[in-house]
Parts: sequence; structure tokens; C-alpha cells
Amino acid sequence: MTQQTKEQPPINHAPSSTFAKEISQEPGGEGIMQCIQCGMCTASCMVASKTERYRPRKLIQKILLGKRKEVLSSDLPWLCMTCRLCEERCQEDVDLSEIFTAVREIAAREGYIPPVFQNTINKVLEDGWLLNDAYTDFEEDERDDLGLDTDLGWNNEFVKKVKKRYFSGGAAK
Ligand code: SF4
Ligand code: SF4
Repeated sequence: MTQQTKEQPPINHAPSSTFAKEISQEPGGEGIMQCIQCGMCTASCMVASKTERYRPRKLIQKILLGKRKEVLSSDLPWLCMTCRLCEERCQEDVDLSEIFTAVREIAAREGYIPPVFQNTINKVLEDGWLLNDAYTDFEEDERDDLGLDTDLGWNNEFVKKVKKRYFSGGAAK
């Protein structure tokens, strides 16, 4: 009699901390329990190749160990540029970029936003421009020469929509 081979379901390890469980319940954070701490993600990560501060495996480990405040108040989860190279190579199908997005969601809800990102948000809410200073006389002249509208007052409308959509709970119209 020939023996039939069954497809093995993915191994989900038991949550090792309440923080890991919390992350696993966030959209995108589900896969964290599959991590076996092999380190392939760190070896693949371009950000990690540029700075020793950033180690995705270690960040996952801290979540698994329950270092909630340390992770949420750190700027490290915000350094992931969501390139997903690590995910291509992870043998356990852990979606690291999704997990770090889940971490950032919780961090933002609890007021832990690194100043550089908070400043960016403030800038967009203030005038609709990420790089307001980039709109110089030169560009205004260029727009004029091209017959484009030089009055960028539309930004005010954009700002109103962003505020309404994200800060007043209403749909942007
Ligand atoms: S490559 Fe995958 S399994 Fe290995 S440490 Fe990174 S997330 Fe965990
Ligand atoms: S998705 Fe994030 S953690 Fe993964 S390789 Fe890219 S930058 Fe590194």
C-alpha cells in the first residue's frame, strides 16, 4: 500500500506575549506567530545594510517578548520602507512590512509618532504641501509660461478634505 503524503498546514506558534497576540489581531499582523527567528529578513534588508540600528528580526523578537512600550515608542518600526524583500525570502511567510505597519497603527493611535513624520503630517494639514518651500518664484514663472494656473489655492480645498476625512470622521466630498 502506498503511503499518501498530506500537505502540512503552516505552523502557528502560540503567542509568546500579550503584545504579540495584540499584533496578531491587527490587520496585517496575523503572521507574527510563524517567525522562527532565523534572521533571513535582517540579512535581506537594505535598511539593515545601511544602519546597524535597524534589525527586523530583532524587532520581531521584541514584539514576541512583549516589549510593548519599547517597540511602540521607538522610531525603528517606521524605518521599514515596505520593499518586501525580506518577505520574498522568509521561509515562514511572515509579512514583516504588514506587521510593522500594524505596529505603526497602534503607535500612532497611542501618540507615538516620530517627530519627522508628525512634522510631515502637520505640514500637509497646514497648507496641503509636503514641500511648500519648493514652490518658488521660478516655478510660478514656469507655470505662467506654460499657461498653467499659478494660484494654487486648490490646496486649501485639499486640506479641508483631508481634515474632514481624517479628523472629523466625515467623508470627503
Ligand atoms: S526571515 Fe521570517 S522567520 Fe526568519 S527571522 Fe525573519 S520573519 Fe522570522
Ligand atoms: S520590507 Fe522592511 S524589513 Fe523587509 S526588507 Fe524591506 S525595509 Fe527591510
